[in-house]
Amino acid sequence: MKITLLGTGDAPGTPVIGCTCPTCMDAHSGGRSMRTRFSILIESEKGKVLVDTGPDLRTQLLGIGIRHIDGVIWTHTHYDHFAGFAEFHRVQYNVDVYGIKDTLDYILEYLHFMHPQRHEVNMYSPFFLIGLEFTLFEVMHPPAKKPVGVMIKEGNKKVVITGDTQRDICSRSLELIRDPDLLIADAIVPPTVEVKKHMNSEEALDLAKSIGAKRVVFTHLSHYFAPHEIASKELPLGFDGMKIDL
Ligand SMILES: [Zn+2]
Ligand SMILES: [Zn+2]
Ligand SMILES: [Zn+2]
Repeated sequence: MKITLLGTGDAPGTPVIGCTCPTCMDAHSGGRSMRTRFSILIESEKGKVLVDTGPDLRTQLLGIGIRHIDGVIWTHTHYDHFAGFAEFHRVQYNVDVYGIKDTLDYILEYLHFMHPQRHEVNMYSPFFLIGLEFTLFEVMHPPAKKPVGVMIKEGNKKVVITGDTQRDICSRSLELIRDPDLLIADAIVPPTVEVKKHMNSEEALDLAKSIGAKRVVFTHLSHYFAPHEIASKELPLGFDGMKIDL
């Protein structure tokens, strides 16, 4: 499987509108601190699936020349994770969308002018798409209702995407996501900045260690990190367009 981090930013993205901090200035001048909103592309020999559809989806899909998507999985109902789905409007009809019932109810009401193919799935129940096995697992991201992370398996390869979450993920989920080849973790800020709904970089590293992840990549990054080239010397920061083959 091939994974592309289409968008590695937090909800405001980097640069933040009106901000002149060194990280936002690096983004303005074309550096890797430029981060669009959250979306991850999963590819197999059989097709392409998106995990979340952030508001910058049109630019992201044009950027990598994608013509067709075989499915979308939504992790939760926050704007920065689904609003870009409307970019499919009049481009591709009947997109297959997957998520738990509450998430689909909310998003499809917001997108009432569109009619994707709805597929309700339950947490901890594997389903198959493009020849890969996907499992949604519960995370903690208050006040979002029933947010999930996504586990993907192909043969003996295992990838875990935390989605937006705090560090205190329930034991059932922790058991499921143990020993991944790759963990893509929400790490919104360095530990010097207080955060409630997400993990900071220290907590994300701690999660990676506790589940025995062979490799970890951070995403959902804010402008509170130093500019990418500096911060990435010490932390495994992802960046827009990053590709990982497994
Ligand atoms: Zn988010
Ligand atoms: Zn800034
Ligand atoms: Zn969120």
